[in-house]
Amino acid sequence: MAQEKIVCMRCEDELEAGRYRCRCGALGEVRHDLESMNGEGLLAGFQGRRGARSGVEASGVWRFRELIMPRVKMHQIVTRREGNTRIYRPPALVKYLGLGKLSIKHEGENPTGSFKDRGMTVGVTRAVHEGARAIACASTGNTSASLAAYGAAAGLPAVVFVPAGKIARAKLAQTVAYGAKVVEIDGNFDDAMNMVVKVCRELDMALLNSVNPWRIEGQKSIIFELLDDLDWQVPDWIVFPAGNLGNTSAFGKALRELYELGLLERMPKLVAVQAEGASPFFKFYQERLENPRAELVAEANPETVATAIRIGNPQSWEKAIREINATKGMVLSVTDQEIMEAKLQIDGAGIGCEPASAASIAGIHQLIKRGIIGSKDHAVAILTGHFLKDVESALNWHEQNGASHNRIRVSADFDAIAKALDKGLA
Ligand SMILES: *Cc1c(COP(=O)(O)O)cnc(C)c1O
Ligand SMILES: [Zn+2]
Repeated sequence: MAQEKIVCMRCEDELEAGRYRCRCGALGEVRHDLESMNGEGLLAGFQGRRGARSGVEASGVWRFRELIMPRVKMHQIVTRREGNTRIYRPPALVKYLGLGKLSIKHEGENPTGSFKDRGMTVGVTRAVHEGARAIACASTGNTSASLAAYGAAAGLPAVVFVPAGKIARAKLAQTVAYGAKVVEIDGNFDDAMNMVVKVCRELDMALLNSVNPWRIEGQKSIIFELLDDLDWQVPDWIVFPAGNLGNTSAFGKALRELYELGLLERMPKLVAVQAEGASPFFKFYQERLENPRAELVAEANPETVATAIRIGNPQSWEKAIREINATKGMVLSVTDQEIMEAKLQIDGAGIGCEPASAASIAGIHQLIKRGIIGSKDHAVAILTGHFLKDVESALNWHEQNGASHNRIRVSADFDAIAKALDKGLA
């Protein structure tokens, strides 16, 4: 049976099986034969699978497989029924932002607590198909937790490279407990990334970072499922945190493919939000306003409370540029203060997310203040990771900013408790 092609995103050369980077240096991508597909027929198929409760169609990724991995062998699929994440419209947050319509899609509700599962189910399925003997990745934490879980599900040994002391403890705990081998590197994520590429090449392991184009294919399902959630009514803005730029690449590719199939009446604008201390992609866009030939310059010491996007040398930058341009989107930078203030709002609405995810709400907030998002617009915020991924940041913030009024300590004495509550609830 014919295989899907992987072609260079820059020069269109076809890449050999198992290779993700072209001789010219650019990344490869999966090329689907959209011309042979019927958009309306596909859509009817997707909608028909909406309520599936068992089998691969219960997965919010594999339900859309014709646009992800059309020739997949069903028995090789390694799935945990990822996706099927909820949409929230908390009135308090709509009011805080002063927005016409807000939809929050919470990707932290995936099996291991982040959207990484959507890419991993596809990447690991492909690794099984190609007969890989082991799988590996570099990670700021969530990719490693996901790789460990899907490695266990597939019965494949998994190895992860993380920056020592730089990942949230819950993510490290998941990775270790799910049985992956953890290699802690003295350095940052970018150093870990450089090492894993070499290790995979020399020691014959499958590389499961988002330079693997199958990860990108899986992450496209965030957009497919979002539009299905919205009954295919296109929102004005889709706003999300951006680190390694895999999601930026995946979201744009998904939208372009749907557009080409005639399933979108117009393009929503993609807004990639970076943390100020780790914002090479944002700076690149700023520079380009003055100098159209500017190149992306990696940052040597990225630093932010949002550890999931603490990345100085984003691998998918070239794809991401194409997608921001294709949707006439924007790239923003928000401070750690703005991120944590947005997180306070999301947490306070009883929804919660990890710090990186809150960059999406901080980004919407900024665009409203700048008058770019209008008061009648429909903006979607993608929350990328679960609150429980990083509880330290929440507790520290509450302690350091005097928001500890939510905690009272009293003796086990009714009168003392009644008195303290009276004060506390006033
Ligand atoms: C991986 C991750 C991101 C960054 O996504 P990219 O595709 O690398 O830009 C953002 N938030 C969370 C919670 C993540 O785990
Ligand atoms: Zn090339």
